[in-house]
Amino acid sequence: MADCNTKPGPCIAKKTPGGQPAEKMNYSQLFESVKKAAFVVGTALLVFAAARNTITWHMQRFWGASGDFWQTTWNNIYSLFNEDEMLVGVVGTTMFTFTVFWLANSFLIFLDVTGMPSSLLRYKVQPDKNTPLAMKDLKKICLRALFNQTVVALPMSFCTCLVMKWRGCPVSGDLPTFQWVLLEIAVFTLIEELGFYYSHRLLHHPALYKYVHKIHHEWTAPVGLVSVYAHPLEHVMSNMLPPVLGPIIMGSHLATSWLWFALVLLSTTVAHSGYHFPFLPSPEAHDFHHLKFNQNYGILGVLDRLHGTDNLFRASPAYERHILLLSRVPMSVQYPDSSPKKSTKNEEKTE
Ligand SMILES: [Zn+2]
Ligand SMILES: [Zn+2]
Repeated sequence: MADCNTKPGPCIAKKTPGGQPAEKMNYSQLFESVKKAAFVVGTALLVFAAARNTITWHMQRFWGASGDFWQTTWNNIYSLFNEDEMLVGVVGTTMFTFTVFWLANSFLIFLDVTGMPSSLLRYKVQPDKNTPLAMKDLKKICLRALFNQTVVALPMSFCTCLVMKWRGCPVSGDLPTFQWVLLEIAVFTLIEELGFYYSHRLLHHPALYKYVHKIHHEWTAPVGLVSVYAHPLEHVMSNMLPPVLGPIIMGSHLATSWLWFALVLLSTTVAHSGYHFPFLPSPEAHDFHHLKFNQNYGILGVLDRLHGTDNLFRASPAYERHILLLSRVPMSVQYPDSSPKKSTKNEEKTE
């Protein structure tokens, strides 16, 4: 298949496998990239606004109309750590992120190992891979994940807390308003896209790839836990640094950072899960990265559009599947891989 990456100048008059006309690549990449960023941030703001109202409403019903639920919860957490800012910053943050990550992944591990409930297997992005996930593979991923989350993450968390303290990021006192949290998370998202895209591209440099990033790419069909299956240097440089930069730059409250870290961990777990489930963000782009290696380095797709590192992806059936699944019919059924051989066979049959 011709690839716009390999040719200078505009790439025109191509058709995607789905039959849709492809874009005149280089002319509109910047505009499309900005449009994509605006769409992602705008959608995130809307979702948060909607979720906020719903969550508040439920909280008020359950906890006797207390508008201070989150403030009280945070105060209790802070007291639990003897109101020690470093303790809650290092140990508290590690415990919280660890719990969120393993709770989300325990469901995926069960599904990957047992194949139950079997009705969910039809949502697999690469249906013939990891069905079931071998126990020796699971053990290998778990060991590296645990190593990164303790031996690597704890000293990194300690350094981050020192920087946050120096930056004046509050740990106690009043929580920020919801509107401010919303704005901060939108900013964090863009900072993470910048940090992750460029650090990830750097990791694909031959000098680094062979010794560092190759480990993460042992998995051409990832599973949820693979999100933290990486060389320690990569775990710091690409998994931890881009998400902590936002809260440091914005001088955010630690509670906001916790919310943000939970979102990051859930998002990367979904991106690596190997399943395109209904009503969850599409994992197709990052799954395609694991399959093809030189496509989709970013998270949002904003910088991939700008740099044209998604050209092959956009010309593939996976791109058509890269949307929010809003029905129970799997994407692989709605947009199957079309092979020229198959269509010839079908044409022969109908003749
Ligand atoms: Zn990955
Ligand atoms: Zn990579």
